[in-house]
Amino acid sequence: MKFKFVLFLLFIVDFSFSQQSNSPLYLDPQMPSQERVEDLMSIMTLEEKVGQMCQYVGLKYLLKEDKNPNLTLDELTKLNTDALAQYNISATQITNEIVEGKIGSFLHVLDPDEANYLQSFTLQSKLKIPLLIGIDAIHGNAMVSGTTVYPSPISIAATFENKFAFDVAQQSAREMRATGSHWAFTPNVDVSRDPRWGRVGETFGEDPFLVGEMGAAMIRGFQGNDFSEKFNVIACAKHMIAGAEPLNGLNISPMDVSKRTLYEVHLPPYKKAIDAGVYTIMAAHNELNGIPCHMHKELMTDVLRNQWGFGGFYVSDWYDVKRIWEYHRIAKNYKEASFLSVDAGMDMNMHGPKFFDHVVALVNEGQLSIDRVNEACAKILYAKFQLGLFEQRMVDKNQIEEHVFIESHKNKSLEISDKSITLLKNKNLLPFKKTDAPKRILVTGPNANNSTTLGDWHFEQPAENVITILEGLEKISKPHNYDVDFFDSGQKIREIQASKIEEAAQRSKEYDYVVVVVGDNSLRYDWEGGRSRDKTAGENKARADIKLPGKQIDLIQSISQQNPNVVVVYVSGKPVGEPWIQDHIPAIVHAWEPGSMGGLSLAKILFGELSPSGKLPLTVPRSVGQLQMVYNHKPSNYKHKYAFEKTAPLYPFGFGLSYTDFSISAPSLSNATLSSDQTEILSVTITNTGSVEAEEVVQLYVRDLFSSVTRPVKELKGYQRVSLQPGESKEVRFMIKPEMLAFYDLNMNYVVEPGKFSLMVGNSSRTKDLQSIEIEVLNKMEVSL
Ligand code: BGC
Repeated sequence: MKFKFVLFLLFIVDFSFSQQSNSPLYLDPQMPSQERVEDLMSIMTLEEKVGQMCQYVGLKYLLKEDKNPNLTLDELTKLNTDALAQYNISATQITNEIVEGKIGSFLHVLDPDEANYLQSFTLQSKLKIPLLIGIDAIHGNAMVSGTTVYPSPISIAATFENKFAFDVAQQSAREMRATGSHWAFTPNVDVSRDPRWGRVGETFGEDPFLVGEMGAAMIRGFQGNDFSEKFNVIACAKHMIAGAEPLNGLNISPMDVSKRTLYEVHLPPYKKAIDAGVYTIMAAHNELNGIPCHMHKELMTDVLRNQWGFGGFYVSDWYDVKRIWEYHRIAKNYKEASFLSVDAGMDMNMHGPKFFDHVVALVNEGQLSIDRVNEACAKILYAKFQLGLFEQRMVDKNQIEEHVFIESHKNKSLEISDKSITLLKNKNLLPFKKTDAPKRILVTGPNANNSTTLGDWHFEQPAENVITILEGLEKISKPHNYDVDFFDSGQKIREIQASKIEEAAQRSKEYDYVVVVVGDNSLRYDWEGGRSRDKTAGENKARADIKLPGKQIDLIQSISQQNPNVVVVYVSGKPVGEPWIQDHIPAIVHAWEPGSMGGLSLAKILFGELSPSGKLPLTVPRSVGQLQMVYNHKPSNYKHKYAFEKTAPLYPFGFGLSYTDFSISAPSLSNATLSSDQTEILSVTITNTGSVEAEEVVQLYVRDLFSSVTRPVKELKGYQRVSLQPGESKEVRFMIKPEMLAFYDLNMNYVVEPGKFSLMVGNSSRTKDLQSIEIEVLNKMEVSL
C-alpha cells in the first residue's frame, strides 16, 4: 500500500475515533483537560502509566547510518541493523511497543511522514493515547530540513530585545506543529560562565537577568497562555542546573559551586521560567557538588516543585538516568538509577528501553511509590490534552508550505540578525565608502561561504534557503559600485593549508578591501565514525583555548601584511579572545550565528545600509588564563594584577559600536529613597549626535554599596533598545523596584538591606560608559524571589 494512501486512511481513523458516540469522557474535547486526565487514568494499568514516562528516538534518526532514500518507513522499520544494536532494540520492537502502550513520547522525529507513521501505531493501541513529540527547536525547528533557522540564542541575546525571543518561539512553534512536533527542548537558560564550553551559542550568555528575561519571553512565545491554541507547543527550560560552569570547560563535567552562586547566578532563570508557566524542565547531564542533577531531590522536588510551584513535568537529558549508574557510579545498576531519579522527581526518561521494566518492577516490589508514577503520568497526559493531540495527532503535509519558511518568518529572522551583529572595532574603515569608481572586495576565510552561520542544532538545510556571508555581500554589492570576489581558503578550520594562506595573502594585494570570515564550526552533520570531522564548537566540543582555532590567525596575519584594509568577521557563538586582531586589524565584526538570512544582514552593515546595534551578551576575555571572567564579579576580584596579562577584558559585557554617536544624560530619579511596595522612576535622555539613523541599547546596572555579604560590582537590571534619527533625543525610563536590589543575606534570606545603592546607566557595562546616581533604602525589606 502506498504511504500516501495509508495517511489518508489515518486521517479518517483519527477523525472518526474522536467522534464516536458513547465514547469515554476522556475523548470528549469539550471537557476540561484535568477531568479528561482523571477519567483516562482511572482505566489505565500500571504498565500503561509507566509507558507514558518512556521516550524513544525517532526511527530515521536511529537508522541514520543506514540512510537509504529508497526504503519506505515500513521497510526501514523492519530492518534489524547494527545502528539499532547499540540501543538493544529493533525498530519493529519499537513500533510494537507503541501499540502495547509502552511508549509515550519520541524525540528527533525529523519529518512529518515519520511523525504520522509513528502516531498511526497509537491508533492500534488500546487507549489510543497520542505520542508527544519533542525536538531541539533551539532557534527554529532547524533539525527539520526546509525550516526557518533563526539566529542562535546567543545572537538573540545580543539584540537585548526580549520581543525577539518571543517571536522566534512563536514562529518556531508554528513550524513545529506543521511538521509534527509538539514540544521544544528549549529555552536553554544555562548561565554561561565558561567560554571554553562548546555550548555557549545555545545560551543567552553570562548574565542571569538577561538569560531569565529572554528565557521567559521564549516560553511565552512557545506556549501562549496555556498551550491550547493550534500552533502552541510546550517549552522546556534546561539544563537544571549549572552545567555552563563546568570545572574543566567540558560538557557533562562536574559542577562545584557554592549554594550562594547557585542561588544568585544559576537558579534565578528557572524561577522566571516557572513564573512564565514553563511546562517542562530538563535536568542537566552534570553532577552538582557531588549529586548528579538527575537525582537531585532537593532541587527538583523541594525547591522547584514545592517552593516555587513548578506545575509541569521533568524530562531527563539523553541517557542521564542510566548514567547515575554508568558515569557517576552511585547506583549499582540501571534499575537502582531509575529509582533514584524517579523518586527524586523525574517524570520522563530520554530515552530507550529498560527504564519501563525497571519502573514497573520498582512499583510492584513496593520500592517506588505509585504516587510518583501517577503524578508523572497525569502531567504528561495533561499536556497531550491541552495540545489537542487526542483530536488531531496527524499533520497534513499539504499545509506545510503555508507555515514553514514563509516570508514573515524569513523577515523576522533577518530583522533579528540585523540587530544582533556586533561591531567590536572600527578604525574609520566601515561602512565601505561610497564610490564613483568601482571598487573591489575579496572575501575569504573558512566561514565565508557555508552554513556555519546557522550555528548548532540544525541539520542540513537546502542551500537556496541559506544566505551565506559571501552570498549576502554579492547580493547587494553592485548598487554600491563594488565587485566581490571569493577566494576559497578551505572550509575545514582544522586543516587550513599553508599554501592557501600564502595564496590568499597574494590575492589580497589586488583588492581595495579584504573581508576575512573566521570563527567556529558547530555543524552537527557530516559525520564520520560518529563524529563530525570539522566541529570546533557546539555540543560536546569544548576547547582548552578561546583563541581562533587552527591556523585562522595565520590567515589573517598574512593577509593584513599585504593589505591593511581588512575586516575580520567572526562567525561563532562564542567569544573570540584574540588581542592581536584587536591591536592590528582596523575593523572587527562579531556576526554570531546569524541564521538563514544572516549573510544579508552582515552585508547591509558592511555597506552602511544599516548601523550595527548588537551588544555583547558576555564578556570577551583576552586569554584563557583570565578565566573565570564575568562582568558581575565581586569587589576584590582585581585588587592585584597578573604578571604578564591585563586584568581588563578584551571587550566588556554590553559593549558594541555603532556608525553614529550617542550621548546619554546623567540619570535622574523620581525620589532619592525607596521603600517597600514603592516604584521609583529613573530617567535619562539619549540623543543621536551623529549623522546616521541607528539603534542603541541603554543599560541599567545596580550595585549595593555596603552589604552583609559581598555583592557584585555591577548587576544588569534593565535594558531598552531605542531607535533614533540623527539629532533626535528620547527619554528612557526604568522602573526601580525593591526586588531589583534584593539578594541572599548572611542567612540566605532573600532581602533588601537598608543602605545606599548605586544605579548606573550607559551603553555598556564598562565603568567609563556609565553614569550613576544613588538611591537609599531606609528599612530592611523581605521580598519574594
Ligand atoms: C542535550 C540536550 C538535548 C538532548 C536531545 C542532549 O545531549 O544535552 O540539550 O535536548 O540531547 O537532543
